[in-house]
Amino acid sequence: LVEIRDLHKSYGPNIQVLKGLNIQMMPGERVVVIGPSGGGKSTLLRVVMGLEQIQGGSVRFGGKPYISAKGDKTVIDTELRKQIGMVFQHYTLFPHLSIMENLILAPRKVHGESRASARERGQKILERFGLGAKADAYPSQLSGGQKQRVAIARALMLDPKLMLFDEVTSALDPELVAEVEAVILQLAESGMPMMMVTHDMWFARNVASRVIFCAGGVVVEDGPPEQVLGDPREERTREFINRVF
Ligand code: ATP
Ligand code: MG
Repeated sequence: LVEIRDLHKSYGPNIQVLKGLNIQMMPGERVVVIGPSGGGKSTLLRVVMGLEQIQGGSVRFGGKPYISAKGDKTVIDTELRKQIGMVFQHYTLFPHLSIMENLILAPRKVHGESRASARERGQKILERFGLGAKADAYPSQLSGGQKQRVAIARALMLDPKLMLFDEVTSALDPELVAEVEAVILQLAESGMPMMMVTHDMWFARNVASRVIFCAGGVVVEDGPPEQVLGDPREERTREFINRVF
């Protein structure tokens, strides 16, 4: 589904973040990326989302060329980008729009979907996420956990073939974390491929089909969750897991 080859990404001349990173993700996989702070996890997801210029390497998506570095330019297939959804750590809902308006904005703009049809789909997704009564509320009237569930619902409105989650529960009060994780687990069970960054070990074990430890701009270890989290092969992975979890 996603094939990242020899990916190089820097910010300016001095901050080299990704230094020849390789990841192959199969359809149906749920990849959790872990690693030290500042190690480039968010950068990696932002690259896959098509939000960053890259300095070398390529990304294929669904078997097609998606992103590549050509000289000092980055070529991105914007049609393929529309098939990927992303949710960030901090809420990114439009504050001046109701929940339903937040949901139907992109499908109307991107796919020219009718208001009636988008509203109907939006209502279904809200109900599935336990937010059926919130369609006409505004983001400021929701809890953090509800806002993140709406952000996930909004991303799903474009029928993504891959979802990216970057620490979507890190800014939440502890009692709100479970309701957001439950929605992601539900999506995982429905077969949605996903790549995510999380610091929650319990969640990582539950949701991942594969865990990738990134450090120093490369993949250090890559394997099933039980192995990478429970019995890491690499000393650097072991140190990190003992320190963090
Ligand atoms: P964390 O676990 O703290 O979220 P991370 O693994 O997600 O860390 P990134 O956010 O990808 O790390 O950052 C990797 C490096 O790139 C850091 O040194 C960071 O300071 C730098 N960086 C990230 N975004 C930018 C930017 N827009 N401009 C300049 N430097 C950046
Ligand atoms: Mg990050």
